[in-house]
Amino acid sequence: MQPLLELKNIVKTFGTHRAVDNIDLTMQAGEKTVIIGPSGSGKSTLLRAINILETIDSGSILFEGNDVGYRQVKGKQVLDKPKNICKLRTQIGMVFQHFNLFPHMTVIENAMEGQVTVLGIPKAEARAVAMSMLEKVGMSSFADRFPASLSGGQKQRAAIARALSMKPKLMLFDEPTSALDPELVGEVFAAIKQLADDGMTMIIVTHNMGFAREVADHVVFMENGSFLAKGAPDDFFSKQCEDPRIQSFIDRIF
Ligand code: ADP
Ligand code: MG
Repeated sequence: MQPLLELKNIVKTFGTHRAVDNIDLTMQAGEKTVIIGPSGSGKSTLLRAINILETIDSGSILFEGNDVGYRQVKGKQVLDKPKNICKLRTQIGMVFQHFNLFPHMTVIENAMEGQVTVLGIPKAEARAVAMSMLEKVGMSSFADRFPASLSGGQKQRAAIARALSMKPKLMLFDEPTSALDPELVGEVFAAIKQLADDGMTMIIVTHNMGFAREVADHVVFMENGSFLAKGAPDDFFSKQCEDPRIQSFIDRIF
């Protein structure tokens, strides 16, 4: 089957530091990959590279079999067709640790904005889509509230609904619960789990091992820009205990 996403030998450096060092990853539609690993290991940079919020130094990214269009010019990697980036970004939703909601817009306006301005969807239709996504994450009763009046968990669920309103084919979550008080983590994971059960393809960076076990098809451990280990959750958490680096990381976050 044609993979939804293929990363081949992705490298991203900042100065002399290789933040992402030769990463390969293939995702089939419907798969869920959880990435764990210590702070500074390159997890966010990798997600940002997939969404082309960072341009990579070398390697290639294919989405639905199409190369996103990097090419080498005088030893530097540049994007061939900037138009492709806009299209790709509409197909990949991203949810960050800090919700980045538009503060001057209500929850539903947040979820309509991209549909109207980027996809050119008429307002009435955008509103209906936004409302259905808010329902999905249990936020429809907060549609007319402003972000400042919401709890962290509600803000994050609104941010998820906003991303979903663009009808993405892939969702990227970068530590979606790490800025939340512990009692608010569950409601956000429940929303993501629901999405997973609906068949969404997703990559989730999280330190929550229970959640990783519950939703992941694959768990990947990242360190110093590389994937040290990859496996199905049960294998991963049993076998990886033999690797002292991974075990010590897991011990520290439990
Ligand atoms: P993680 O998300 O795993 O904590 P990051 O991807 O944020 O790791 O960072 C990986 C490495 O790249 C870190 O050493 C970080 O300091 C560095 N880095 C990330 N973004 C930048 C940037 N814009 N400029 C310089 N260095 C960066
Ligand atoms: Mg990060």
